[in-house]
Amino acid sequence: MLLTNILGDARQLAITYGIPYHNFKLLLGYVLDCSVVDLRLKYNSLSDFEYEIYQGFVARLIKHEPLQYITGITGFYGLDFRVDPTVLIPRPETEGLVEWVLSYCNGSESVLDIGTGSGAIAITLKKQLLSLDVCATDISADAIATAKKNAASNKCSIDFFNSDLFPDSKDVYDIIVSNPPYISSVDYLTLAPEILEFEPRNALVADDNGLAYYSRILQMAHDYLSPEGMIFFEIGSEQAKPITGFAHQAGFCKVKVKQDLNGFDRYLMITP
Ligand code: GLN
Repeated sequence: MLLTNILGDARQLAITYGIPYHNFKLLLGYVLDCSVVDLRLKYNSLSDFEYEIYQGFVARLIKHEPLQYITGITGFYGLDFRVDPTVLIPRPETEGLVEWVLSYCNGSESVLDIGTGSGAIAITLKKQLLSLDVCATDISADAIATAKKNAASNKCSIDFFNSDLFPDSKDVYDIIVSNPPYISSVDYLTLAPEILEFEPRNALVADDNGLAYYSRILQMAHDYLSPEGMIFFEIGSEQAKPITGFAHQAGFCKVKVKQDLNGFDRYLMITP
């Protein structure tokens, strides 16, 4: 099958189904194991076998399945992470959270990542600063299994616990970081089909208008935070104010807000 014809069909499908044309090229690149830029340079046709595999992927893409679940892989902070429908696909804005946490680390800290999902935050922190002592939790045993595979493929050692927010042990941490579910059940229904129909709802939606996990974490945090410890959250763009309220109620004095690259309030640092 000629590449020109395949790309022509992809262009039509992209328009018909409202899916970026580039995603079709990324899939072709994935099938042929080459970059999008190299596609036309290296190939002018696909074998029957390659075309069959590509067609199988396209059938999923036009149903709005995220490209990352089709290929089973995504990039985050320069590392590769396997992803499957048991974990949220790591978002680019979460790289900003990792970067902010790193700017406060000297490498001697112990870190707890709550709700680790694919392990993206915990693993990236560890890879950037190998001397950090990193633990991570998730309530989903399936997510923990995926995160463990990601830690292994990225060759780093992290203690994973399948638990609800905090580990069962009574250890204290210098840094607690979390990108918990923060979408309200009402806003959830307005999300794109790629998210709504394919990503795990329990990794996205929280009670109390999306705020439930922040209040639970802050109420418990004193027992798990070292005296000079810091808490870092990714948040919804309208949530800085109510979460600051929870932090003050829980006895934390200082709250710093940081914006993401789009200028939205996206990160909080909370200290005693
Ligand atoms: N930023 C994600 C989204 O908008 C939500 C992540 C989360 O709930 N922690 O899809």
